[in-house]
Amino acid sequence: MTRLILSIALMLSLIGPVRADFRFSASDDVHRYVESNLLGIFYHELGHALIDILGLPIFGQEEDAADVLSVFLLDAFWEEEAAVGLAYDTAFGFLGEAQQGYEIAYWDVHGPDLQRYYNLICVFYGANPQERDDVAEDLGLPQERAEYCPDEYDQANASWGAVLDEIHSPAGGRSLGFGQVETETEGGAFTMEVVAAEVDAINEEFRLPEKLTVSVVPCGQANAFYDPARREIVMCTEFADYLVEIMP
Ligand SMILES: [Zn+2]
Repeated sequence: MTRLILSIALMLSLIGPVRADFRFSASDDVHRYVESNLLGIFYHELGHALIDILGLPIFGQEEDAADVLSVFLLDAFWEEEAAVGLAYDTAFGFLGEAQQGYEIAYWDVHGPDLQRYYNLICVFYGANPQERDDVAEDLGLPQERAEYCPDEYDQANASWGAVLDEIHSPAGGRSLGFGQVETETEGGAFTMEVVAAEVDAINEEFRLPEKLTVSVVPCGQANAFYDPARREIVMCTEFADYLVEIMP
């Protein structure tokens, strides 16, 4: 996959080759699906981190704002073909969750998975409606919603786009650094590989006023979260395996 930053127009480093013995690479589809979703999840956690570190005002649910940053970055960092693949995979990530058959927790801080699925498709489609008509149709975005998606993207660009412009630094920075890294499992090693490439790429382009720690560790559950007390994104090594399990 090839990445780019549209507004900032700089090429970032490519994700390195994947180890041949890796279980997820048994199937290219599975491998790509897991990689895409780890990226989407990491961008979402980065959203929480930026909200905290930059003291961004959030009018509404923070989880929704983090989801919007995630899809905004998928669109902004990657060239069209890769971005479309990432959008499909991450949308299917929500679909996979929705298909687990758990009762919808309306009290949860996250919106229901199917709603997150449509929100993602909407912003992605709205970013480039001329070229993504077929993607929206293929993923089942109803016309009633699609009409508003270019405006929804404009809002995302006015909020998150402005934030990214503000922290963009031509010389880059070393704002993101690794904390604890324990990757004994293949899923853990793969997570580290994906996240390390992102940390490098983001450090090349952006500078934060505070250090942000990234840890890749076993948590005893498939999870990823941002801890404001420690200014730390924790990517649990179990998530990669879970993604394989729930792949639709
Ligand atoms: Zn979140």
